[in-house]
Amino acid sequence: MDNKFPGKDITQEDLKSKFPLAAKKSTKHVTKVNVNGTVFGDKLIPIMAGPNMVENEKMIIKTAIAVKKAGAQFLRGGAFKPLSFPYRGKKYNETREQGIKWLAKAKEETGIGIITEVMEEKYVDLIANVSDIIQIGSRNMQNYPFLTMVAKIGKPILLKRHYGASLRDWLGAAEYILFEGNKNLILCERGMSVPHTHRQTSRFLLDLQVIPATKEVSHLPIISDPSHATFWRPWVPSMTLASIGAGVDGIMLEVHPDPKNAAVDPLQPINFKEFSNLMKISRKVASAIGRKIK
Ligand code: PEP
Ligand code: MN
Repeated sequence: MDNKFPGKDITQEDLKSKFPLAAKKSTKHVTKVNVNGTVFGDKLIPIMAGPNMVENEKMIIKTAIAVKKAGAQFLRGGAFKPLSFPYRGKKYNETREQGIKWLAKAKEETGIGIITEVMEEKYVDLIANVSDIIQIGSRNMQNYPFLTMVAKIGKPILLKRHYGASLRDWLGAAEYILFEGNKNLILCERGMSVPHTHRQTSRFLLDLQVIPATKEVSHLPIISDPSHATFWRPWVPSMTLASIGAGVDGIMLEVHPDPKNAAVDPLQPINFKEFSNLMKISRKVASAIGRKIK
């Protein structure tokens, strides 16, 4: 390996002094994160799917059944939401504790795994009781005391990349979690903020290159979230396939029973049929590169 990696702001010295725990020790060093028998960082590419927000009991159970049937191992959905603006209308209200109960119900009825976001310390135990993976959202990526607190719970963590963070910053955040002795850490690329000059194309830009770049320097599994990255339903399938081609260890997708009427970000979820079709094509792409999608 050269002294400087393609990421440019990461050097060999950084790997030793800044993120000794997140850094790869040898080319074969890969961490497998086992969540109730589903392994991230192995041949299988696990799928997480569900709405942006847990809106009500009926929709979340319906979604759990549909995504599980189509091949997802985890149901995603926020009950506590980092909404970009504080204004909440009738439709936009977070479902909070109630939403967590509905996720528990969906899990009980279908046996699907759960991933949901934690935003405040006071709710971490409540969420950890139900969620198999705790999501730390992009906006909290550099909230170091928060990372330390969540890491101590000892549950698997999905650390989303902040949309302005370099790989160096992201691995620095990962190091805080590993430093607490929590090795069950999965990284998630969710799109970078695009300079305003380029916003004719998109608000965010899926950083596909960060997938091989991360694998070059770190042993941690990395997944992709094409829904948040594209912010635009028609581009989700191609960016999912591109992510698989780039070597991801998992995919997170927004899937909603009625996308146009989704309470949050209605432009990004795909419906059940689209999800099921996407899984079919994804299986072919995965198999072509020696990976597997259930
Ligand atoms: C989400 O997954 O619902 C979410 C809010 O993601 P991000 O933190 O990437 O914006
Ligand atoms: Mn979202």
